[in-house]
Amino acid sequence: GSIRPREALQVMKPYSPGKPIWEVQQEWGLEKVIKLASNENPLGPSPKAAAAIQACLSDLNRYPDADTSVLKEAIAAKLGFTSEQLIVTNGAGELITLISEAFLEANDEIVVPSPTFSEYEFGAALMGTRLITVPLLTKDRYDVDGILAAVTERTKIVYICSPNNPTGTYMSKPELQRLMDTLPGHVLTVFDGAYSEFADAADYSDGLELVRRGYPILIIRTFSKVYGLAGIRVGYGIADGSIVNAIRQVKEPFNVNALAQAGAIAALEDDEHLEATRESNRRGRKQLYEGLSQLGMHCEESMSNFLWVRLGTDAGLLYNQLMQRGVIVRYGGNWGYPEHVRISVGSFEENERLLKELRTLL
Ligand code: PMP
Repeated sequence: GSIRPREALQVMKPYSPGKPIWEVQQEWGLEKVIKLASNENPLGPSPKAAAAIQACLSDLNRYPDADTSVLKEAIAAKLGFTSEQLIVTNGAGELITLISEAFLEANDEIVVPSPTFSEYEFGAALMGTRLITVPLLTKDRYDVDGILAAVTERTKIVYICSPNNPTGTYMSKPELQRLMDTLPGHVLTVFDGAYSEFADAADYSDGLELVRRGYPILIIRTFSKVYGLAGIRVGYGIADGSIVNAIRQVKEPFNVNALAQAGAIAALEDDEHLEATRESNRRGRKQLYEGLSQLGMHCEESMSNFLWVRLGTDAGLLYNQLMQRGVIVRYGGNWGYPEHVRISVGSFEENERLLKELRTLL
C-alpha cells in the first residue's frame, strides 16, 4: 500500500514470546501440556493477591490511581526509597519502551552485552538509535572491560541484565562497582533486575545501593517472576527523581490498571509466598541441573529461575519434539544460539516430566 510505516520499524523484529499452553494443546491435540518457557512462577500468585483482585471487581467503573501512589509507597517502604524515586509501569516491558522514549535519540548509541533480553534492542530500534552489542562473558565472567571499550561520547544507555536472561549468569558486586566508577557521567546504566529476587550468590548485587548512593543508574523490577503475577502486568523502576520524572513525562496516565495495582500491593505483603517461591526455585533448579547434567547436557550455573542448556548439536529438533510431547521450552536460536535451549524451573512434577520426556528422546 501507499501508507508507509516509519523507516525505523523496518529493522524491528517482532517479539516472539514462548507459545501459550492452549496453542500447543490445539496444535498437537494434547491435553497435558506444561510450559517451562517464560520463567513464570510454578506456585502461582500469592492467594492474598488473588483475593485483593477479586475485591476490586465491583469498582471497575472507576479509573485507577494514575500515580499508583499506594503501590509506590508500599514498594518504597519495603526497599528503602521514597515515592519520588519510583515509577510503576504495565510490566517491565513497558518500562523499557518508556526509558527508550524518554532518553534515546537517533544519533545516540546504547551498549548491550549479548545474548540478553530482546526488548533493549527493540527500544533502540523504535527510536532509531544505534545498538552496539558486546559479548556478555569472557570465560565465565561479565566482560566489564569490553563494555567500557564500547562506550563513546554518543553512548546514552548501558544495559546490564543480572541475573541475565537467557544465561542465568550475574555481574558480581565488585564488577558492577568498577563499571559504575569508570563509566563517564553522560551514560545512564539501566540495571535489569527482573530476576534479582532469585539470586542467592554472596557476591551478587541487586544495584539498589548504587541508587541510594546517587549513581546514574536505574533499576528495573517486575511482579511477573518471583511474585507470579505475569498476567496482570506490573513492573517498576527505581532511580533518582530526575530520571524518574523524565520517564513520567512519556507515560500514559492510566498505564497500570486497578486490578494490577491491588494485586501488586497485596503481593508485597505476602513474604511467606515470596520465601516459598525462592525455596521451591532453589530446589527445582538443583533438580533440573542434576537431571540435565546426567543426560550429558551442559548447564550454565544459574542465579535465576531458568537454565541455559547447551546440547552440542542443533537444539531445534529437540525443541520441536518436546513440544509435540507437550513440554514447551525456549529455543536458543531466538538469541542466535541454535545449540541451546532455555528451560524455566517448574514445580517438582513439571521438572520430572521434562526429564522423563528427555530421557525417552535422547
Ligand atoms: N526483563 C527481563 C530480563 C525479562 O526476562 C522480562 C520478561 N521475560 C522482562 C524484563 C519483562 O517482564 P514483564 O514485562 O513481564 O514485567
